Amino acid sequence: MKSIDIVENYFKNGLEIYIITKDGERIDISWRVAVNGKIKNELKSSMRYVIDEQIKDFKNNNNKYCILCETKEFKNELNEFHVDHQIHFEELVQNFLKYCKENEIEIPSTFIDSTDGSNRKDLLECEFRRKWIKYHKDNAILRYLCKYHNLTRKKF
Ligand SMILES: [Zn+2]
Repeated sequence: MKSIDIVENYFKNGLEIYIITKDGERIDISWRVAVNGKIKNELKSSMRYVIDEQIKDFKNNNNKYCILCETKEFKNELNEFHVDHQIHFEELVQNFLKYCKENEIEIPSTFIDSTDGSNRKDLLECEFRRKWIKYHKDNAILRYLCKYHNLTRKKF
């Protein structure tokens, strides 16, 4: 651990505490405390898995085009485009978890294996699963980025 950074949160109604590692990575402690370790990873994995249909829908209905460098599919010989969350996926997850805590929606702590061979986790049918799928549908802004611009994007 190198230093601690305390900043005003996104909603401007509280503080967030980050640890800055020696590699310069910022780790959000408020998030760590809320959901820890293995559960955190499996929760995030399952939250990605259950919105997969929305990603597939986006792919089926949009042309590959990177808005940042204006590379189109025919100009990109590797044809590597990634679907990007314009509002970071992490931010959507954190906001949704906050909503759950405020509204006493139980956050799952047990997970099942997904069936698509991706090794991701899935959620059992529950209020959290239903509401998250809808929340993501209503709030996620999806876009294509070329591989370069997706991978070099600043993390949330
Ligand atoms: Zn690009």
